[in-house]
Amino acid sequence: MIIQPSIRMNVAFNAHPLGIKRYIDQQIADIKGKPTFVGPKKALIIGGSTGYGLATRLSLAFGSQTDTINVSLEGQPTDKRTGSSGFWNNAYAAAAIREAGLVTKDFIGDAFSFEMKKCVADYIKKEFGGKIDLLVYSLASGKRTDPRTGITYSSTLKVIGEPLTGNTLDINTGELLERTIEAATTEEIANTIKVMGGEDWKMWIEFLLEEDLLADTFKTVTYSYIGPKATEKIYREGTIGAAKEDMERTAFELDAVLKNAVNGEALPVVCRAAVTRASAVIPIFPLYSSALTQVMKEKQIEELPHEHIHRLYIDMLYGNKRELDAEGRVRPDNWELREDVQSEVDALLAQVTEENVHTILDTSSFSNIFLAQNGFGFEDVDYSADIDLPKLQEIAIFEEV
Ligand code: NAD
Repeated sequence: MIIQPSIRMNVAFNAHPLGIKRYIDQQIADIKGKPTFVGPKKALIIGGSTGYGLATRLSLAFGSQTDTINVSLEGQPTDKRTGSSGFWNNAYAAAAIREAGLVTKDFIGDAFSFEMKKCVADYIKKEFGGKIDLLVYSLASGKRTDPRTGITYSSTLKVIGEPLTGNTLDINTGELLERTIEAATTEEIANTIKVMGGEDWKMWIEFLLEEDLLADTFKTVTYSYIGPKATEKIYREGTIGAAKEDMERTAFELDAVLKNAVNGEALPVVCRAAVTRASAVIPIFPLYSSALTQVMKEKQIEELPHEHIHRLYIDMLYGNKRELDAEGRVRPDNWELREDVQSEVDALLAQVTEENVHTILDTSSFSNIFLAQNGFGFEDVDYSADIDLPKLQEIAIFEEV
């Protein structure tokens, strides 16, 4: 199969395995070049195939020699399809982790189901040493079937209140596109909370606690976002923000339960804005992210997801530089939200026109990161070569649930 990028409206429909290998190797090399830390011995990552979850898997393995289990929902290759980027991320990340002498395991299937929770619990009991000391909840999903009722809910990216019109950037064409984001109904808000709120995270923790699989001083973290004024209507004050508030409330509930049960803790971590499969489709986000990168590069504080996550784990989760806000949330987004950064981002966004967008904002980093995450844009990969997917796929070791 010859694999050229197939991207429409900031969604990638294919991935190049050889480019993905480069992308994974780059992240591992970066992490190996940073200080190590004494972190968890055994971690479970829910949503560890792409974005922040993948960054966490790599940072833990190569920064702290942590054994990892990853649960993700990814498309496998077929005669006609390349398989998703997350599928190949899993394959190459797990191979490198095993080569480093660590234990790692991939479950592919629906994290929201009872069946997945049971399979993971069995594996922890029988093959993973009996207990975990960290669970990272890093899911981003468009839908969820509640396993207790069988009802499927969909999340929506809408505003709450008045509709909002703003610009976004099409990665494929480089064009600025005007988008109007509709106001959500009460039902859409509730459904987004059902999918992206804290209910499933709580079910995972309660189930693993009942099964006695959480070690003493166990930690669990979830990744949240607050962001600046520039994105607040679409993000924090929108449907997804309502779900994040629910997630944060769940963290405080779980924290009390875990303190009592295993002397543990549950923490909501507010991460910085990053280009990922989930964020690239959020209207306005591509422009904001390009302005942010422009400013943060100039100030020499730009971080890719794996660098951001590595700083979080070294300094704030397993180090002594934890920064908490008044609500008890961990705040590695402190660099993004610095006043000098945000005032410069706002000034840039206020000047954007179709003519200057690619000169005043760092839109090329946005597109290049997105392409790299799907295995494209690497100089030493021959994109005209015929790729033997079944042969490459032999490296992928996973359990389908
Ligand atoms: P992503 O799309 O890169 O990753 C989502 C992960 O969820 C993937 O591993 C995917 O396989 C998995 N997944 C989705 N549905 C699943 C299912 N039913 N069963 C099993 N796995 C499933 O997204 P991301 O941007 O890395 O987001 C991860 C978390 O970080 C989210 O909670 C997001 O809100 C949060 N966050 C993201 C940003 C950002 O700017 N990207 C900023 C702050 C916080």
